[in-house]
Amino acid sequence: MYDYLIVGAGLFGAVFARQMSDRGARCLVIDSRDHVGGNCYTRNDGGIQVHEYGPHIFHTSSERVWQYMNRWTRFNHYVHRPKVCYRGRIYSFPINLMTLYQLWGVSTPAEAKAALEAARVPIQTPSNLEEWALSQVGEEIYYTFICGYTRKQWHRDPRDLPADIVKRLVIRLTFDDNYFSDRYQGIPVAGYTPIFGALLANIPTETGVDFVSNRSMMESQATKIVYTGSIDDLFGADIGWLEWRNMSFEHEYLLGDFQGVSTMHYTEDSVPFTRICEHKHFAFSHHEHTIITREYPRDWQPGEPRHYPINDETNAELYRRYRDRVDGRRYVLGGRLADYRYYDMHQVVESALVTAAAERHG
Ligand code: UDP
Repeated sequence: MYDYLIVGAGLFGAVFARQMSDRGARCLVIDSRDHVGGNCYTRNDGGIQVHEYGPHIFHTSSERVWQYMNRWTRFNHYVHRPKVCYRGRIYSFPINLMTLYQLWGVSTPAEAKAALEAARVPIQTPSNLEEWALSQVGEEIYYTFICGYTRKQWHRDPRDLPADIVKRLVIRLTFDDNYFSDRYQGIPVAGYTPIFGALLANIPTETGVDFVSNRSMMESQATKIVYTGSIDDLFGADIGWLEWRNMSFEHEYLLGDFQGVSTMHYTEDSVPFTRICEHKHFAFSHHEHTIITREYPRDWQPGEPRHYPINDETNAELYRRYRDRVDGRRYVLGGRLADYRYYDMHQVVESALVTAAAERHG
């Protein structure tokens, strides 16, 4: 008999398992995929670490989370500075003084501030993503950088989306083009997969095992279940499926250097993918070959991998109804899937540490 059956060997499950195991709990980790690491999983392709499920850049301002992760890996000095390609022109991104120089020729913070203020559409109380973006940056920036990308990513009119989705993007009136404002940032030098090997060392872990279809047998193996899958799966989606965005990743092997940067955003509606990642640039490597990945957002269908929760009111209500039915004495929920939250990795680590610390074991 185990103390914890941990369903899902992604970041939440692996950190939780490590923490509880170190406190003497008996843990069994299972995952329906044939590998650990969840969507952080990286595949070594001739020395290039391929982010198989989209680019993962670790960033945090939490000293505690950064120290914790550094126990399991060494990070390189990568700083995320993607570029945007729109109608054949390349722009600096996130929006910073270089972007405004490229667009409007302004070259000082004061000029940029004045230009941006003049461009803003006066909307007193923005009620959706489009209105919020227009009120912050005006029409030209909105249509060049945000509208098309957002429409492709979410397959919804930006007027039907909450502004929170784009509030993660910074706008700077300096030449700082770091995508994130966190104190710490980097990519694990050996990729993400070895982190999971380290976190799960000496913890029984089985891949290719489905929990939901063998639920009662699985439940009988442990006192508590730590479930990191989607909550609707626990109930056969009997009151409806929570909506997600799925992604198709098209990997291509080429020679040389394809784009000279790790990530190029394609913000036009007419280009079917949102980004191209060139993985070797996450690691400053100079291999003769290169792997690029085009990301195609798709509607999610039951049974497919889930990537981005669609956090609107309807889904929030559905989520609450499922959440109320979960037996909190037996079940612990966590991670992007089970919490139905658009988490970054550092938030998942933090919440796994907090959740594990709150467990009464031992
Ligand atoms: N976004 C955009 N243009 C871009 C990049 C992002 O409009 O070039 C918007 C889009 O709606 C996206 C959101 O900002 O869903 C968050 O982007 P982020 O890069 O944080 O997304 P992730 O890396 O998680 O896919």
